[in-house]
Amino acid sequence: MSDDKYRHKWWGWGLEGIEYDMDARPSLWPWIRQKGELGDDPDLRPRVDLSEIRLPPARNTESLASALRMVVGDCNVRGDDDDRLVHCYGRSYRDVARLRAGIVDTAPDLVVYPGGHDDVVRIVELATQHGATLVPFGGGTNVAGCVERTAHDSRPGITLDMRRMNRLLAVDAQSRTADLEPGLFGPQIEEALAPHGLTLGHHPDSYIYSTLGGWLATRSAGTQSNVYGKIEDMVVGMTVVTPTGVIETRALPAASNGPDLNRLLVGSEGTFGVITRATMRVHAIPEYEDYRMLLFPTFQDGFAALHECVQCGYMPSLARLSDEAETEFMFAAKHPATGFQRWIEGPAKKLLKARGYGRPAALVLAFEGPRQLTLELRRGAMAIFKKHRTFDLGASPGESWKESRYDVPYLRDFMMDYGAIADSFETSTVWSNLMRLYETSNEALRRVIGDVTGFHGYIGSHISHLYETGACLYYTIAVRCREGSTPEEAIEQYSEIKRVATETFVSGGGALSHHHGVGYEHRPWIERELSERGLASLRQLKESLDPDGIMNPGGLLASEGPARIDGSD
Ligand SMILES: Cc1cc2nc3c(=O)[nH]c(=O)nc-3n(C[C@H](O)[C@H](O)[C@H](O)COP(=O)(O)OP(=O)(O)OC[C@H]3O[C@@H](n4cnc5c(N)ncnc54)[C@H](O)[C@@H]3O)c2cc1C
Repeated sequence: MSDDKYRHKWWGWGLEGIEYDMDARPSLWPWIRQKGELGDDPDLRPRVDLSEIRLPPARNTESLASALRMVVGDCNVRGDDDDRLVHCYGRSYRDVARLRAGIVDTAPDLVVYPGGHDDVVRIVELATQHGATLVPFGGGTNVAGCVERTAHDSRPGITLDMRRMNRLLAVDAQSRTADLEPGLFGPQIEEALAPHGLTLGHHPDSYIYSTLGGWLATRSAGTQSNVYGKIEDMVVGMTVVTPTGVIETRALPAASNGPDLNRLLVGSEGTFGVITRATMRVHAIPEYEDYRMLLFPTFQDGFAALHECVQCGYMPSLARLSDEAETEFMFAAKHPATGFQRWIEGPAKKLLKARGYGRPAALVLAFEGPRQLTLELRRGAMAIFKKHRTFDLGASPGESWKESRYDVPYLRDFMMDYGAIADSFETSTVWSNLMRLYETSNEALRRVIGDVTGFHGYIGSHISHLYETGACLYYTIAVRCREGSTPEEAIEQYSEIKRVATETFVSGGGALSHHHGVGYEHRPWIERELSERGLASLRQLKESLDPDGIMNPGGLLASEGPARIDGSD
């Protein structure tokens, strides 16, 4: 299939043959083993062989498949096990753990690759006529169970892989907008815009393997969201094919034409229809970029500095303030110093310790844009940071963070070989609640991880994605599963950790999710988030767009009662 360079290995992150380069970071594995309590004698969990995986039998879809072939061509309608397997789950720990253990109880019957908007219109019509369900699929990197169908749905299931719809349709450089197809992966978008001197400026950590359609459908956030906004702030017009017709919104700079349909369509996670085009705000490629790393004596100092900086108007394009635990991880994961750096490393550490940075909190900070403006912003921000006792480590660690930021997801696969449960959970809240939520979430995670696994594990957190009113709080955990656990038991332990994390966020005044979306994993909390009437209104809207409920029926707006966190509803 075209663009296989963006297709994940069936059992983990990224392409077959690319793995986390542990050898280049000699301090990291001993540190992870100790923190994750993975031990000297690892509970090595090899993954099953691909040939051992038994997919649920495909339903008889012959007449539907031949009608679809007439639309997109023979090679773009696939029912082989390889294609079905890579489209069955997303990429949360639970997804990857099931794949590695060969637990696949639901898979699409057919995978279809449309080549353009008209193909999608015909496919949606055919699905409706044949009583089939449709799940749009971008890169499959979602971590909330957004592309998984419920096992008990007896209708034929089509997954619509959007990767062939990967064209830049038009650019209006004067107005700084671009019309893009939704199957474009992150690097393809930047490659297409670069000759025009433009950038979209959306770089989630999953950038390489996720698509514009997936970003829009889940309300994704990129690392520079502080200046470019979340994806919902970037979109100005959309085309969405629903089972009852095509919705088109016009690309205007601003309007007062009733409720904002773009805002209703983003975040719909494939349950209203298929996004076939988006007009996006784009930006001049920044003239100047400044990445650096700062240290604060404590996370609390860093928090106070960021809060003041943002509210005084010195908004960095990127700010990721790690707590003390995550900062330790960052230092363990760095490439060993060489030459002069190595020579001064020991004395520098001693000096920092003596000055109160014994267990510091690191801030990765970036400013970008026109050179003069960027320098002024940086100057203003640094003056505030200095008041909060910052120590500027300079550009080199900031640059190396930038270079290696897309490597980290590979680390989870490495740790899972050793029986580790590893994943991330995220929320957002207002500044006045942020440190309180941080403390309660830390405590809740510490307790549940100990209870369910019997180990302490690693819990690290950072603040990122800044707003005048608040910020995103992001947790990463890694812990050995309870000794002797089967893969199913390890998944149960993870589900309980995730349940407690999400419950703590929602009951503590945080968002159900800042950017990971809802899927079925977060669905148990959606009514509390939107209110009973709010959720009912969205369901009524879905019913008017999709009366037969064929669009992603297991996802966000499924109405068959509360989902269980293990997805077995
Ligand atoms: C290691 C890792 C790091 C991550 N980092 C980030 C991050 O920094 N920021 C962030 O926001 N997220 C992040 N994510 C989550 C994930 O990458 C996002 O949710 C992303 O937006 C999903 O895009 P995708 O193309 O992979 O979509 P998929 O996973 O394929 O689909 C996600 C949802 O979008 C729907 N969809 C896809 N295409 C269309 C379409 N054309 N029309 C209608 N619906 C569609 C699907 O039906 C599904 O409901 C991360 C995930 C991982 C595993």
